[in-house]
Amino acid sequence: MTSSNDKGAQQPGGRPSRGAIKAVRGTRDLLPDQTPLWNRVEATARAVFARYGFGEIRTPVFEATELFARGVGEETDIVSKEMFTWEDRARAASEKAQSLTLRPESTAGVVRAYIEHKMGETGALQKLYYIGPQFRRERPQRGRYRQFWQIGAEVIGPPSSGAESPVRDAEVLEMLASLLDELGVHGWRLELNSVGSAEDRALYNQALREALAPVKDRLCPDNQRRADTNPLRVLDSKEEQDQEIINGLPKIADYLGEESREHFAQVRAALDACGVQYHVNPRLVRGLDYYTRTTFEFTVQTGLGTQNALLGGGRYDGLSEMLGGPKAPGIGFAIGEDRLILVLQEQAKQDAEASGTAPGEEKLDVYVAPLGFERNAAALALARELRREGLSVEVGDGAFKLRKSFDIADKIARAIVLLGEDEVATGVMTVKMFATGEQVKVPRAELGDRLRAR
Ligand code: AMP
Repeated sequence: MTSSNDKGAQQPGGRPSRGAIKAVRGTRDLLPDQTPLWNRVEATARAVFARYGFGEIRTPVFEATELFARGVGEETDIVSKEMFTWEDRARAASEKAQSLTLRPESTAGVVRAYIEHKMGETGALQKLYYIGPQFRRERPQRGRYRQFWQIGAEVIGPPSSGAESPVRDAEVLEMLASLLDELGVHGWRLELNSVGSAEDRALYNQALREALAPVKDRLCPDNQRRADTNPLRVLDSKEEQDQEIINGLPKIADYLGEESREHFAQVRAALDACGVQYHVNPRLVRGLDYYTRTTFEFTVQTGLGTQNALLGGGRYDGLSEMLGGPKAPGIGFAIGEDRLILVLQEQAKQDAEASGTAPGEEKLDVYVAPLGFERNAAALALARELRREGLSVEVGDGAFKLRKSFDIADKIARAIVLLGEDEVATGVMTVKMFATGEQVKVPRAELGDRLRAR
């Protein structure tokens, strides 16, 4: 296929050129100048989760469509508009055709795995975390992609394991506060609410429907539809023209039963005891059907514009039963890793501007420059030894002029080792340290220590 704007163009080799293939809209490549931050974030998350007794779970990136229809809810935006779903043909008589979907979130998959592997039968509380890509066909913009990453965790178990306890909710929230602090995210804000039990929500939904019926015509088309299908969703709409109506709607707090009210009070008391600040936001109901009782979001003001929700989560006490499993109350969250990274980058830029320094850049320990192609093999052998000593090394090419080797080395490494005929013969290397500009002769045996010194 040739794209319309390069019809008939010829490449130097005489072959007709084709349009270059680009990453699909809403997806992107993370290049080596970005991945160190991603790795730091993931390593910090893993370390923090381990301190709270979480173990990693890896579930498939695609699942039966029904899992999300049942678990997330048919009426949610995710399931009704945003899933990448396809009919998977049977390829053999032993296979069934079925509808499959790229996971738009991971909680449903984790709970499916919990049920499938009978993890509840141990009687113990399960603390599981995951890091991985999610897929939603949303309108792409800064901080919103069609393939994005989430770092999430779930605490789930049979009622006898204490999975329902408000202590669990508070612990998860306190852990998130600690993680964001450890990552150096400043200015985060925890918004907290309770959406009550399934029964409380049914009553509240009814009250919302009734309150919305006479004013529905004045809402934007999306909210008009939600007023019928999923009135809770109207509450977290950001649509400017609808705010006045939304602010006048009944509040969930007035529909909470005694148990939900007490549970929420205990979550707040535990957070107070830990000194974790939060703001109760009665409009925070979140989009997914499975949430019960505690719901929360962490937001930040920098970097994200309107996409300021860094992470969201809540309790989902009936989800396991909805998926055909045993009673298994749970609470979890998902951090939008892409957004977290954007915030950290933005904040690093602001900090650097404030202090007048450039954000630090990691360099290799050394660049080994062979002088002449006859020294290429010896350079590679020396690099192998240095790497085995734990140093990070790049090897040049004997075909490069000395000037060129120095220019490259200065950009990517803290030092250059010149490997000429003399150096190979005597085993004494010529080393230049770029930070100080000093050039010294170093015997091979001392080279590792010398290069490691900062
Ligand atoms: P949710 O699963 O909808 O509760 O989302 C949890 C978090 O994932 C949000 O707070 C966002 O930070 C992030 N997130 C959700 N959708 C996207 C997206 N399309 N692109 C990037 N991040 C997203």
